Parts: sequence; C-alpha cells; structure tokens
Amino acid sequence: MNTATRPESAAVEQAAYEDLCLYIDGEFIKGGGRKEQDVVNPANGQPIAKLPHASREDLDRALAAAQRAFETWKKSSPMERARILRKVGDLSRERAKDIGRNITLDMGKPVAEAVGEVMSCSEHCDWHAEECRRIYGRVITPRLPNVRQMVLREPIGVCAAFTPWNFPFNQAIRKIAAAIGAGCTIVIKGPEDAPSAVVAIARMFHEAGLPPGVLNVVWGVPGEVSEYLIKSPIVRKISFTGSVPVGKQLASLAGAHMKRVTMELGGHSPVIVFDDADVDRAADMLVAFKFRNAGQVCVSPTRFYIQEKAYDRFVARFIENTRNLKVGDGLHADTKMGPLAHYRRMPAMLQFVEDAKTRGGRIETGGAKVGDVGSFFAPTVLTNVPDDSMVMTTEPFGPIAPCVPFKTLDEVLARANALPYGLASYAFTSSTKNALAVQNGLEAGMVNVNHFGMALAETPFGGIKDSGIGSEGGIETFDGYLNTKFVTQMD
Ligand code: NAD
Repeated sequence: MNTATRPESAAVEQAAYEDLCLYIDGEFIKGGGRKEQDVVNPANGQPIAKLPHASREDLDRALAAAQRAFETWKKSSPMERARILRKVGDLSRERAKDIGRNITLDMGKPVAEAVGEVMSCSEHCDWHAEECRRIYGRVITPRLPNVRQMVLREPIGVCAAFTPWNFPFNQAIRKIAAAIGAGCTIVIKGPEDAPSAVVAIARMFHEAGLPPGVLNVVWGVPGEVSEYLIKSPIVRKISFTGSVPVGKQLASLAGAHMKRVTMELGGHSPVIVFDDADVDRAADMLVAFKFRNAGQVCVSPTRFYIQEKAYDRFVARFIENTRNLKVGDGLHADTKMGPLAHYRRMPAMLQFVEDAKTRGGRIETGGAKVGDVGSFFAPTVLTNVPDDSMVMTTEPFGPIAPCVPFKTLDEVLARANALPYGLASYAFTSSTKNALAVQNGLEAGMVNVNHFGMALAETPFGGIKDSGIGSEGGIETFDGYLNTKFVTQMD
C-alpha cells in the first residue's frame, strides 16, 4: 500500500533534533544576529530547526583557522591522526541511533537506512585510521652512486568540501576522514536541507580531541559559499559531491585558480539482466536497491535493460514488488520508502513521467504524488520508453524505474555506454562470457555483477566521464589530498 502517514509527535521530534550551529576554530557558534534558514521535515513539511548561515567574517575566520592549524597538523604523527579517527568511528557507532533519527527528520529516509548509513561510515573512520599509517613515498634508484632520489607524499593544505543531502553523514565523513588522515585541514559546507549529520560529526571530532581549526563547518547559500572558498588563495583543494552541472561549474572555478579537485557527480546507471540470469532474484534485489533512499542515490540503477526472453517475467515481478513497497514517514518501523528529501524534486519527478507518457511510455505503477502532506512520490515503473526520453537520458534522482527490452550483448553495451555519465553499472547473468564482456565493455567507474558491492571503506568509489574525477575510499582515498614532491641529493 502506498500511503503517506503523519509522524506521531512533532514535539518529540523537536526535542530530539540536533542543536544546529557553525563549527569554527574549535568553537560551536550560532545566533549573534546571523542570517538563518528553516530546516524542514519532508515527511510533513513542518520546520524543525533554524540553521545559522556563516557571515563573510565567519568564512574568513574558518579559512584563517584552517590555515593556521595546517602548520601543525601537517606535522602530526599518523598515530595521532589514527587515534582521533578511530575514536570518531567508536562514537559514531555509539550514537548511530540518534544521528540516524535526525537524518530521517531532516531528509526523510527510513530510519533503518539512516542508522545503517552512520554505522557503515564508522568503518570509513576505521579504514582511514589504518590507512593513514601507510602513506608511503619511495626511493628511486639513481644514475650516479653519490646521488639519492626520493618521492615524498605531503598533505596538500587547506581543503574546501561541499556535500549533499542524500547521504548527509556518509558524503561528509569520507571527505573529512580523507583530509584529516592525510594531514590536511578542511572547511566543509554540508547540505543546508539536511544539516544535522555534519554538526554531529563536528561534535564527535571535537570530543575526540581534534585540534581547533583542523575541521571547520560552515553553512550558507551554496553558490556564494563555494565561490568564496574556492577563490580564496588559502584553499588548495576542492572536493564536491552533487550534480554534474554544479560539479562542472565548481571544477571550472577551481581550474581558473589552479586547485586540485575531487568530483563525485551524478550518474545514470544501466542495469543489464541477461536471459541466463536468476531473473526472480534479480527483480527482488533490484526493487530493494532501486527504491532505497527514494532513488535519490548517485549510483541508483536508472535504466533497466532486460533481455527479451527474460523481459516479461522480470517486469511482472519487479512491478509486483514495487506495488508492495510501504511508503510513509521514515520514522515508522514498517516504512520501506520515505518522502523525496525536499519538495523541489516533485516537479522534476512529474516532468519525467509526463515526458515518458507523451512518448508512448506506459506507467505500470506509481507516476504521481502520494497524499497531500509531505513530499511523497509513488515508486514508479515505466515501460515502453524510448531511449531518447528524458528518464532514459537525464538522471532522475528519484523513485522512477524505466524497463526496456534488448536483444544482443553488443546492442546493450552500445545503449548502456551511449550517455555521457560513467558512475555505476550493474549486470545479472550466470554466464562467465557475459560477465567478462560487461566488466570489460561498460564505461563506468564501478561494475557490479550479480550483487551490489560498492561503497565499502576498502573499495574505491568514483566515476568517469561526466560522473567525476578521482576516487574516495580504498587505497586511492588519499591520492586527492597529497602532493608528490621529488627530492634529489648529491654527496
Ligand atoms: P542542486 O544541484 O541544487 O544541489 C545538489 C547539492 O549540491 C546540494 O547539496 C546543494 O547544496 C549543492 N550545491 C548546489 N549548488 C552548489 C554550489 N554552487 N556550490 C556548492 N554546492 C552546491 O540540486 P538538488 O535539487 O538539491 O538535488 C538534485 C540534483 O542533485 C540531482 O539531479 C542529483 O544529480 C544531484 N545530487 C547528486 C548527489 C550525488 O551523490 N552525486 C547528491 C545529491 C544531489
């Protein structure tokens, strides 16, 4: 049943919600006549808190603090960095329930998903704690006996990071842990729509004993804050997770000032289900994965290519499972899909459906807003949509799944690779030939065959083509935060 329901008690939620603030030079700051914005619960449209914006002076203070702190933090022992990161991992495990509930309140995902997000991120802290002790340089054999030549890896400096609302804890902790573990300092602007997680992260680092200025949290009008920080000569590296258009804009600005970038941008992930796959298992797994976080996931499967013989069986089961998803307030234990994180995504969802309809697409289930309270959109399955329709070419970033048939391997690879995106991709098959062909043939930063295995602390996460530059996680995680210095010496 797709029924949106009201939360039981707004009063209880308000009491439990994070005390929102800026975090600059080791101080939690709010008030003082600063501009504020409402944070809204998308399940009921009600404001739950006020978020202070950083003034120009606040941004300058954060930059100066990060610059000053870098002078000592860059020389800190990896053992000390590891101790702090490990402590934050422990604290986030302890606090996962409260942090998770607050994430549900400000961005809507089911509370079990939100708590899971925090728990998995504790692992990111653990991983960076271990891995920062393995930042190695190397010695290069010289051409002369009295010469020594070495490669040193040094922290790049002050980083500016911008993180989105869909995984507000995950996206922020990855950037913070990588910067801090590498010996950099960081000024981060989290998502104003869902700010509780980033404030909770700042509190944990503070309690873990991170020196003032190493981490600074600011809020404001995204375009204004990012432009100011990127242009600042203090900042040496930019890391952004968000949409492709904004990523290109920020990367251009960073390029104009010759700053390093890591860009984790949008995707349009193809799913290929071959005739020889376990079709029922694929349909069951894909419904759960597609509608996780209401489809607001950069690696969400977005184009479902099903081989002809498997098509009817897959689509029937996929539709049936989708119809059975319980949509509602993420605080309710039986909710499987919450609201869209904010109302401005609603017109976009309706436009995807309308465009598909006008091009002969069939709405098999969903396709409309649910209820009149909150920003709920029904889990939607479309069929018969042409490859050039909006939903097949533009990232839907919502709970819409278009399913189309294909005939041959070569044909489906060409269709899967036709878009400028290259983030995640998925295939289901029992044939090693097909599995090898998709691993080699898909133009994507990540290829998942017969399961979803990405975004672990020990595995690199990132896209190619328009989907981004660089990786987070895995042993690659510090690459974007380190300079390479060549040293040569003669006796
Ligand atoms: P949006 O592009 O306005 O914002 C997306 C995120 O980027 C937000 O967190 C926002 O605060 C931030 N942002 C926007 N402009 C910025 C700027 N100039 N400087 C710094 N940060 C900026 O779109 P939206 O309506 O909030 O979200 C929908 C779109 O965002 C989707 O189409 C999706 O592609 C993208 N998105 C991607 C991810 C991801 O994980 N790759 C996450 C969230 C949103």
